[in-house]
Amino acid sequence: MKTLTRSAALEKLASLKKRFNRIIGEGYEHKAKDCLTCEQQGICCIDAHFVNVHITRLEAESVRQRLEEYPESLRKKVKERAAKVVQKYGLEAAGDSFSRTYSCPLFEQGTGCLVHGDTKPLPCIHHACYEIPEDLPPHELLKEHERMVERLNTRTFGNGWNWQPLPVWLKDMKFK
Ligand code: SF4
Ligand code: SF4
Repeated sequence: MKTLTRSAALEKLASLKKRFNRIIGEGYEHKAKDCLTCEQQGICCIDAHFVNVHITRLEAESVRQRLEEYPESLRKKVKERAAKVVQKYGLEAAGDSFSRTYSCPLFEQGTGCLVHGDTKPLPCIHHACYEIPEDLPPHELLKEHERMVERLNTRTFGNGWNWQPLPVWLKDMKFK
């Protein structure tokens, strides 16, 4: 497997997510409920019974870069929220973390999700509220893109990466 530098991998990751956004946007999202008219905007991000988004090491690096664009005070707030969420919901870097749900620390009241477009986690791009189950994008489409992200991680870090709950990455994130 051909290795990748971190910056080349981040570029490839951004293109992959852009493409996934386009596939979902053009092929499915128009059949979903419009988030702008949602009576409970953001509930899909802060519902602690629902959210269990995991990301990889490479995606965590991309999230870190995006958060660098925000003021330090906001980054601090995100880290504090993440630490609370990790403790409250017993999130861990290893083990059966996929069975644990939490309220996402990247959701900022008044702003919404702090990471958009080519930084957003794949399950968040994939998710929307569809009235008819047949309109949902296939789960396999998500899985296929997750496998591509996994390959990028392996080409960049070898075996030195895994999937972890998003707040676990955020809690220990080091900013410049
Ligand atoms: S995805 Fe669903 S719950 Fe979330 S803001 Fe959009 S319409 Fe509302
Ligand atoms: S990353 Fe963004 S879209 Fe995904 S759950 Fe968190 S706030 Fe919501």
